[in-house]
Formats: sequence, C-alpha cells, structure tokens
Amino acid sequence: RSGRSAALRARMEERLLGARFRYLNQQLYTGSSRDAARLFRADPAAFHLYHRGFERQVRRWPERPVQRIVRYLRRRPASLVVADFGCGDCTLAASVKNQVHCFDLVPLSPRVTVCDMAKVPLAAESVDVAVFCLALMGTNLQEILGEANRVLKLGGTLMVAEVASRFEDTRAFLRAMTQLGFRSVSKDLSSSYFYVLEFAKTGPARPGPAPGLRLRPCLYKRR
Ligand code: SAH
Repeated sequence: RSGRSAALRARMEERLLGARFRYLNQQLYTGSSRDAARLFRADPAAFHLYHRGFERQVRRWPERPVQRIVRYLRRRPASLVVADFGCGDCTLAASVKNQVHCFDLVPLSPRVTVCDMAKVPLAAESVDVAVFCLALMGTNLQEILGEANRVLKLGGTLMVAEVASRFEDTRAFLRAMTQLGFRSVSKDLSSSYFYVLEFAKTGPARPGPAPGLRLRPCLYKRR
C-alpha cells in the first residue's frame, strides 16, 4: 500500500516538474533575453529545474547538437578563441582545447561568466568563433546576434544549432542574417531534430528591421 502511494507521489512530482519545465521554457522563448535574465535572477531554483527538464528532452535525441559543434571545432585550429552564448553545463568548453568564453544566466559550472547574452563582457572583434547551441531563445534575436557580430573578428565564424521546427522560413532567415553582417557558409539540415548553420562575419550589422529574422518558440508537448 505504502509502495503504491510512494509510486503515485513520484508520478505526481514528475508531472509537476514537467509542467513547471514547460512553463519556464515557454517564458524563455516568448520574452526577451533580459526577461530571462530577470526571471532566473529572481528564482535560481527555476533555472536548475529548467536545466533538468532540458537534459531530459535532449537525451531523447539521437545526438546532442553540441557534439556537432565539438566536432567542428576539433577540425579547426585549437588557437581559435571561442565564445559560447548560453553555454549551459559547459560541455563545449570541456570538450575542446580552445579557449572558450562561457556565458549563461546562472553558473552550472565555475567556468561560466554570468550575464545576459545580449551584452557579454568581451571586447569588440576579440573572438574567432561565436556559438549559439540551442540558445537563441530570446525574442530580441537581432540584438543578440548583433552582440555576436560585435565580438567576432572580421571573417570570424558564427555557429548556430537550433531545433529544426523553429525555422518557419529558412531562406528568409538566411537573408536577414546577411543584413546582420553574416554570410551563410554551410548548412547541415540532415538531422530531423536540429539544424546546424555556419556563417562568416562579413562586416558590422546593418541597422534597420530584419523581418525574416524569426524563429518559432520551441514548445514541448506534455507527455
Ligand atoms: N548550449 C548548451 C545549453 C543549451 S540550453 C547545450 O547545447 O547543451 C540554452 C541555454 O541558454 C540555457 O543554459 C539558458 O540558461 C541559456 N540562456 C537563455 N537565455 C539566456 C540569456 N539571455 N543570456 C545567457 N544565457 C541564456
């Protein structure tokens, strides 16, 4: 009897965690990066809950997108300086020889510099590779990618790994990226879960609206 009620309680807790994760996730995809920073600063426990939920989701996928970025970096010189926007648990930094600046809202690892990704403490044109691995969450995409443009050297690389279903119009997205100062170098659309897009910085971001720069929020279904 007590075994049954413990199992029931565990199931209820699981459901509650799932519901809170989906709620937090929705907040992150429907607000600006500043809202996200405010949310997690006010409630660090929410951040840890979010991350547990994130891990559970990604474990269902055949491959973690960050592994693609790791493989990409290993093919290139280890002397390249990297900035990882929304680094999570710093898997990237732990997996390559490069110097990696890790940015996130709450430190899951001592390597993390806590900040909003729309404003990172790096000098202009100081990094060779900027990475957003499942991290383009805020609605202020133009500002966030503008920050990546600012810190990247001319000709530097921008790597974006994002959930495939978030792209409503990939061509419009790539066109908008041109306006933000990024030329498309390669795109790997082979996984049905996520896309990996590689860009090169061609110059500073041009001001003005970039209408195609839209990604759908990634909302998870209740299971
Ligand atoms: N890149 C990691 C983690 C992806 S989860 C990986 O691939 O495993 C997305 C990460 O972006 C989370 O850790 C979340 O906290 C972070 N994030 C979301 N909004 C952010 C913001 N405004 N500034 C910095 N990090 C942010």
